[in-house]
Amino acid sequence: MEAPPGEGRPGEGPPEGAAYQWATLDEPWREAFRQAWQALRTGNVPVGACAATADGEIVHAARNRVTDPAAPPGEVAGSALAHAEINVLARLPFRHRRDLVLTTTLEPCLQCAAAIRLGPIATVRFAGADRYWDGCHEFGKLSAREARRTQPARIGPRADELGLFATLISRIGPALTPRYQQALRTLGEAALTDLARQLTGGSEVRLLTAMEPAAAFGYLWPRLNDVVNSAETL
Ligand SMILES: [Zn+2]
Repeated sequence: MEAPPGEGRPGEGPPEGAAYQWATLDEPWREAFRQAWQALRTGNVPVGACAATADGEIVHAARNRVTDPAAPPGEVAGSALAHAEINVLARLPFRHRRDLVLTTTLEPCLQCAAAIRLGPIATVRFAGADRYWDGCHEFGKLSAREARRTQPARIGPRADELGLFATLISRIGPALTPRYQQALRTLGEAALTDLARQLTGGSEVRLLTAMEPAAAFGYLWPRLNDVVNSAETL
């Protein structure tokens, strides 16, 4: 008997709901998730991003490289600056036409929100909510001039399991220190932090990195729904 949406179990393949959500993603979204997955596989913070034209042609895609010793020309590695969005924006020429769409798997942090504001970005789309940096894009509060200026439009976070998946994967790996876990719990992200810790500390992370992101989303679908059912809304 075919499992109804949300009833899939590990090893059975993507549940219907996960396959449906994944099928709705356009190519920039898929590229951002592919980049995030490459960050996971290389021991960086799993966030990926790309810049595309309004009709979806990808201009540059990049990933988090905070633990990498080196980066492709024009990108940064090995420091707290080496976020996915920074590595996309660093490759866009000065005074580039300002109508690009930046698609990123996670709500931009303080430095990335500022770089997006300075970059040639008309719209930022993000999948996962990030309570840690929520509100850090409101530059209109900083000065009267910023308040008068048109800020990049924001689309996100996604209210579905794919958004939760994007937040979860960003928590897996080197960033999940005890102090960071405590901060996330204080911000109300307890159930997702438990899941991230379970995946980071166990053997499943190797299983996940061997999968493609669509398959991993299907694999994690039941536990993402457990987080949804825990009433922890992101
Ligand atoms: Zn960032």
